[in-house]
Parts: sequence; structure tokens; C-alpha cells
Amino acid sequence: MKRLFIRISLGIFLALVVSSVAASQLMRLTIDEQMHERMRGRIFGEVDMMQDYLDRAGEEGFAEAIVRVRRFSMAPVIVRRLGDPEIPPDVRAELRGHTPLHRPNDEGMTAYILINGGDKVVVIGPHRRPLPFDWRHLLLVLSVVLPVVGVAGYLLAYPFAKRLRTLEKAAQALREGDLSARAPIDSPDAVGSLAQQFNAMADKMQELLESQRHLMQAVAHELRTPIARIDFHLEMLRDAPDSAQREARAEDIESEIGELNDLVGELLVYSRFDVETGPLKKKSLPLPETAHEVVDRLRATRPEIEVLVRGDAEEVIAHETYFRRALQNLVANAKRYAKSQVVVEYERDDGGLRLSVVDDGPGIKEEDRQRIFEPFTRVDDSRSRESGGAGLGLAIVARILKSHGGTVRVADGGATGSRFVTFWPDR
Ligand code: ADP
Repeated sequence: MKRLFIRISLGIFLALVVSSVAASQLMRLTIDEQMHERMRGRIFGEVDMMQDYLDRAGEEGFAEAIVRVRRFSMAPVIVRRLGDPEIPPDVRAELRGHTPLHRPNDEGMTAYILINGGDKVVVIGPHRRPLPFDWRHLLLVLSVVLPVVGVAGYLLAYPFAKRLRTLEKAAQALREGDLSARAPIDSPDAVGSLAQQFNAMADKMQELLESQRHLMQAVAHELRTPIARIDFHLEMLRDAPDSAQREARAEDIESEIGELNDLVGELLVYSRFDVETGPLKKKSLPLPETAHEVVDRLRATRPEIEVLVRGDAEEVIAHETYFRRALQNLVANAKRYAKSQVVVEYERDDGGLRLSVVDDGPGIKEEDRQRIFEPFTRVDDSRSRESGGAGLGLAIVARILKSHGGTVRVADGGATGSRFVTFWPDR
């Protein structure tokens, strides 16, 4: 905070110093030159008048005239003889033919007047140049500017620094494990939008970690059942009196291991959607061919259930494997619970394809329609345990649709049964 304030103040201060020095130098270059020209004109005129006046005063009026000249001259006036060593030799030589004479030197300009062609020389000067650049003036100006810049810098830096501090605190809390830490900043500046990004990131992190935690708990819970059963079968295997019973127990264990294997396989599919790895490779899949292929693969399970495919769209834009997987899970469920019929129907709708899987089974209660998409949710335990799978089927469907930017929900399936409605956007 302090550093930010010092930096801003120092920045403004340096910018002011540099710009004012540069500006004053520029002004000097232009104004100085003009001033000098004007001064020269005045000095030349004044000296001409002096020459005239002194010449006319003559020998007898000279003393009085020189007093007057001193009074209105802008520079010192000294009377010398032509032979005086203070008169430079080149001036002496030139004065005979040309008077008055102006000579520039380090301090300014000096004028020489030869009175009536005689021996008397009046030296007027030096006429000093206008004041040179003075650092003391700059220091004076800075003594006023510095405190003003300090206060302005503080006022500018303070709100920024305060918001950054809030953001820093939230980041620190998050780092230390407080997943609910957020930065309550809604200013319409860069810090505000940074805070928004930070909060969105924290939301996402919290959501991910919490879903991971739930999944871990659910997985542990799901694994426990087959493991307990394997344990039980092993116990029985040890006590089995003959080889026929031993064989039966071994088969039980094998089937439990098969279930464990299925669960692990489903888990792997499910977790693949946990990490979003860039945009999906979507393509156009032909309808109804793709739907028929999926339905045909499930022919063996409950072949007595009739499955109809109907719709008036020609394609769906989706990731091929994931689309087939989602449809397969929905149709498999529908077949599992249907009494006699399952319908897969689709239509184009608002920039995408709406595809529904409808069955005439027991349906899903209003209050369960949201939670069945969570991993390992079974709404009717006795019913689904014997017939169902690992409890990840709908969770996988939900994830597939989320990764496509689409949706899945359960609606009423008509008189009875359930209707799973999915939406697959074109882009
Ligand atoms: P499972 O592997 O147990 O079938 P799912 O995620 O596919 O897991 O389904 C979750 C639960 O949702 C099922 O156990 C079942 O209770 C219910 N369910 C899914 N599809 C249907 C359906 N078509 N009709 C009635 N209930 C269903």
C-alpha cells in the first residue's frame, strides 16, 4: 500500500519535473531569442541618441550632458581617452571611421562613442543579457508542487490499494484452505474485474473440490458392498464341505469381482468429464441412423420391449462417442423400467437438437428429478439394486451434456412413465 502510494507520487513528481524543465528550456530558446533581438534594437537607438546629444553639447557642455546621459542610460557610462589601455586596440582603430561602435562580450554588449572626432571616448555597457535560467526558481516552484503531488498521489492510490488489499486477503484465505473466501469488490475498474475473475475461479474451485469429495464418499460407499460380499463368500468358501460348493462360492466371488470391474469402468468414464480439456471435437452425426445403431446394440436386454425411433431432423452436432454413450445410457434405463415401449424422438429447436427418451414405466417422482443426475443416486433402492447398474449412468449423461453446452432434464412421460429431454446445441 505504502509502496504503491510512493510509486504513484514519485511518478507524478518526476513527470512534472521533467516536463517543467523541458518546457522552460524550450521557452528560453524561443522567448530569449526574441527578447534579445528587441533589447538590441533599444540599445542601438539609445546609443545613437547619446552620440547625437553628446556631440551637440560640445566641449563646454560635455560635463553636464554626461551627467544627464548617465541618468537615463540602462548600463554604466564611463568616459575614457582614446589612448587608454581599457579601450581594445581594434575598437580604437575602428572608432576613427565609425562611431558608435557595438561590441559583444561574455557579459552582453558594450557601446563605444567617439565625441566629435576628438580624443574622448564614452564607454556604455555592458548591457547585460536577460536573466539566465535560475535553479532557485525551479526549487521554489517544486516546494509548492511537491506537497500537492504527495496529497494527490495519496488520494489516487488509496482506493486502489484498499481494494487490492481486500483481494490479497481473500487469496490468502483461499490458499489457507477457506474455500468460501471471496473478494467483495464490485468497482468498475481493473481491480473490480480482477476480483470478479478471482471470485469466479474460487466458485469453480469450491464446486470441483466439493464434487470430488462427494464422489469419493459415494465411491467408498459403493465399493464397500461388493467387498463385504466377497468377504462373506470367502468365508463360505473356506467352510465349503465339497468341491461343488467350493465351485459355487468361487462363481459368486467372480460375479462380485465383475461388478467391481464394471463400477471401476463407469467411474473412469465419469471422471473423464471432470477435467475440461478444451473444446470438444464435435461433428455432424446422421439421424436417424446413429439413433438406430445405439438402439440395436441394446437389443439383447429385455427384447420384449419395443423401441421406436422417430423425428424430422437429419443431423445432430455432437462428439460421436459421447453422444452414443449418453443415448445408450438413457435408452438402457428406459428399457430397464419400461412396461412395454420406449420412444426415442427428436426435433430441431432453437439452434440445436431436442432429443427425448420416453418410457411407460413407473416414472420418477417430482422431488427426485434433480438428484437422479448425481452419482450413485437410486430413487427406489430395492427396485434399482436388482436391475440397475453402478448408479453412474445419468451422472455420465449430465456430464456429457454439460460438456456440450447442452441440458438434460426429466419431464412427465405422459400418463405414466418418464421422459428424459436432452438439448444438443449446434455450437
Ligand atoms: P443406475 O445405474 O442405478 O441405473 P442411473 O444413474 O442410470 O443409475 O439412474 C439413477 C436412478 O434413476 C436409477 O437407479 C433409477 O432409480 C432412476 N431412473 C433412471 N432412469 C429411469 C427411468 N427411465 N424410469 C424410472 N427411473 C429411472
